[in-house]
Amino acid sequence: MKLTRKQFLKSGALITGGLILPGFKFYNPFQEQTYQFTTIRNNIGIFTERGGTIGWYATNDALVVIDSQYPETAKNLVVGLKQKTSRKIDLLFNTHHHGDHTAGNLYLKDFANKIVAHENCKVFQEKAYGGNPEKPQAYPTATFSNSWSEDIGKDKVTARYFGAAHTGGDSVIHFENANIAHVGDLVFNQTYPFIDPNGGGAVKLWPEVLEKIAAHFDNDTTFIFGHSISNDLLIGKRQDLLAMKNYLNILVEFVEKEIKAGKTKEEIGAAAEIPGYADLKERWQGARKMNLDRTYDELIKK
Ligand SMILES: [Zn+2]
Repeated sequence: MKLTRKQFLKSGALITGGLILPGFKFYNPFQEQTYQFTTIRNNIGIFTERGGTIGWYATNDALVVIDSQYPETAKNLVVGLKQKTSRKIDLLFNTHHHGDHTAGNLYLKDFANKIVAHENCKVFQEKAYGGNPEKPQAYPTATFSNSWSEDIGKDKVTARYFGAAHTGGDSVIHFENANIAHVGDLVFNQTYPFIDPNGGGAVKLWPEVLEKIAAHFDNDTTFIFGHSISNDLLIGKRQDLLAMKNYLNILVEFVEKEIKAGKTKEEIGAAAEIPGYADLKERWQGARKMNLDRTYDELIKK
């Protein structure tokens, strides 16, 4: 196979640009893809490529996967998991319905015995993507309203719902013995979050949910986050949940104050910074404005 000049430059940039991380295994320069398995502890870890962070627990007597990214990246996940265990996936969880966490269900369903999610997650997935032939879906095969638990391998995995926040159907998946919890997109670590009123999200309720989660877990809990400003921040601690909570509180306070001062949506959305967060970086262009606009919409609606 011959590389075009563009492909060659791109693969060269990947190699020299420091984007290849420790633990990197399956780089294929022809596909320009990078993906990485990182172990946390007790055979539990994360998979990163494109889309929301995938959590996994892989042993000879248990295979649990949390979130599924996209069909093409889920394929790479399966390749890597096969090196860890010959098992079928016992449980595939979706933390919430967004496409970068559920689109890969379509590929993983043939390798999974069950797909589990909060009942609202399924409803919003159907609402957002159902009936679109360009976005074929695989939906949860089991849902829960408050919590869902199963002993598996040497651990006990529990999914819990804490209320509307990032969407109307977020759950936290906890490996109780290892004390590792995947919080999905309830935390965008050190970056602006995606706010989704159409998917049942609520900026005003989100901080309370983070408060409840922080109270439920402890200082030893390791958290997996759906997104962060850099890959090394996809895993964190309770203090990161509280930092996210503080950001959301300040965002709401700031927009409330500006509305009271008589500013328009356009004026508020054009703010160069949210007080105290001048250095917060965007994961995509326009993220700060989107946070301000959607908070404005939510506050003005009542
Ligand atoms: Zn999301």
